[in-house]
Amino acid sequence: QDDQFKKVISHAKEYGYVFQSSEIYDGLSAVYDYAQNGAELKKNIRDYWWKAMVQMNENIVGIDAAIFMHPTTWKASGHVDAFNDPLIDNKDSKKRYRADVLIEDYCAKIEAKIDKEVAKAEKRFGEAFNKAEFVSTNPRVLGYQEKINEILSRMAKSLENEDLADVKALIEELEIADPLTGSKNWTDVKQFNLMFGTKLGASAENAMDLYLRPETAQGIFVNFLNVQKTGRMKIPFGIAQTGKAFRNEIVARQFIFRMREFEQMEMQFFIKPGTQQEWYEHWKETRLKWHLSLGMGEDNYRFHDHEKLAHYADAAADIEFKFPFGFKELEGIHSRTDFDLSQHEKFSGKKLQYFDPEENKSYVPYVLETSIGLDRMFLAVFSNSLVEEELENGTSRTVLKLPSVLAPIKAAVLPLVKKDGLPEVARKIVDDLKWDFNIDYDEKDAVGRRYRRQDANGTPFCITVDHDTLEDNTVTIRHRDSMEQERVKIEDLREIIKKEVDV
Ligand code: ATP
Repeated sequence: QDDQFKKVISHAKEYGYVFQSSEIYDGLSAVYDYAQNGAELKKNIRDYWWKAMVQMNENIVGIDAAIFMHPTTWKASGHVDAFNDPLIDNKDSKKRYRADVLIEDYCAKIEAKIDKEVAKAEKRFGEAFNKAEFVSTNPRVLGYQEKINEILSRMAKSLENEDLADVKALIEELEIADPLTGSKNWTDVKQFNLMFGTKLGASAENAMDLYLRPETAQGIFVNFLNVQKTGRMKIPFGIAQTGKAFRNEIVARQFIFRMREFEQMEMQFFIKPGTQQEWYEHWKETRLKWHLSLGMGEDNYRFHDHEKLAHYADAAADIEFKFPFGFKELEGIHSRTDFDLSQHEKFSGKKLQYFDPEENKSYVPYVLETSIGLDRMFLAVFSNSLVEEELENGTSRTVLKLPSVLAPIKAAVLPLVKKDGLPEVARKIVDDLKWDFNIDYDEKDAVGRRYRRQDANGTPFCITVDHDTLEDNTVTIRHRDSMEQERVKIEDLREIIKKEVDV
């Protein structure tokens, strides 16, 4: 697992997807830059989301709110008081950890034991093995499960009651050790606010204290009435946005999984109070379908329903994805009630209500939120696509099997040799196709090496121009995943590529 993750990180660098930020100055922790291919992949994921959420839904519109917001926004939203992580320091190693993450990692280890039991039983029973029945009846598995539930619900309760002494007591009872040094010498647990502060204004005495937004959602809430009125939106309707968010994360490891500067794709769906349960189910299902439409394997996703709810929510679930380091949150679906709009009413003194013509009355709408991290989605797609394949002739190849719709470059055009007029014909094909797709031109090295390079880069098609092309206007098109090659007419290329890469 660790090995696969290391491969993902080095492949992302080697093929121009993700670089450490400010690398020549030895980098900045948990901040990353997207390189030439990464920027394209990221844009394609963003577009794929935007199309599904905004373009395909008549009642969802998109906005682009500023990163800077009036500081009262964050008092109203609860972030000044409640956007905290419980931190604990190890006295020996002087390392700082999120207490809740230490406890969750401990539970993940127990979960791994369950997986082992299942694998053992599967081996023993073979075809007759029924996993669902096994995990719901096997006493050892049930014992592990019960232990996990006990630990997590005690942690949830302690955090909810701000009983930080009990969080520490739990860490001590479970004898959780510093993952790096093994030391069990812990300090007390303290709350730490995750927002980055900055200042607006030229002179020191007049400068206004601001925060960099820790989520994009509040830019939507404060614009709720503006959009509803100018767009003449009727409930139920949604407002979507993508953009940067900033959090001073403590456990900032795992590459682009947890960053200090990252991008979110959020949609707030405004509904009639009392209908939140049905919309919650609707959006859970709709968002899972979106993920599955990329064909990255149904088994790689699962729902995790929250017991511990954020200060604004009355129900919440995560869509978890199987990253190289295990199942982790990729997207959150939150039933936020009227918490945010009511708070903004209170703090701004402005009415943020909707007049419902059917009910003939005004109310503060309830909100359902879908919130996904673009960088996390990038990591999900990238890590799931990277495979090492053994070939029939005993060699192997590295392929980045990106969903074609997301691939940075859709096709590479390769003249078989650098002479006899082949490069000119290849250039002409590029000049024609580039109106519709990102196309690469490559004439360096033997054609086999060029194929491998495009495989590793995730390019779905290679188009090879050879001497026959000069005679009959046909080329060889090679498919990345199957490595199959066909002879096709140049004039048919556009349609063939379109069929594969269009949504
Ligand atoms: P986590 O529990 O992993 O910290 P969260 O529950 O705080 O995440 P939300 O506030 O619900 O996350 O944010 C919505 C989405 O934004 C998450 O599902 C995740 O994909 C993404 N996200 C949150 N924090 C980060 C981060 N530091 N780096 C990258 N993506 C993030």
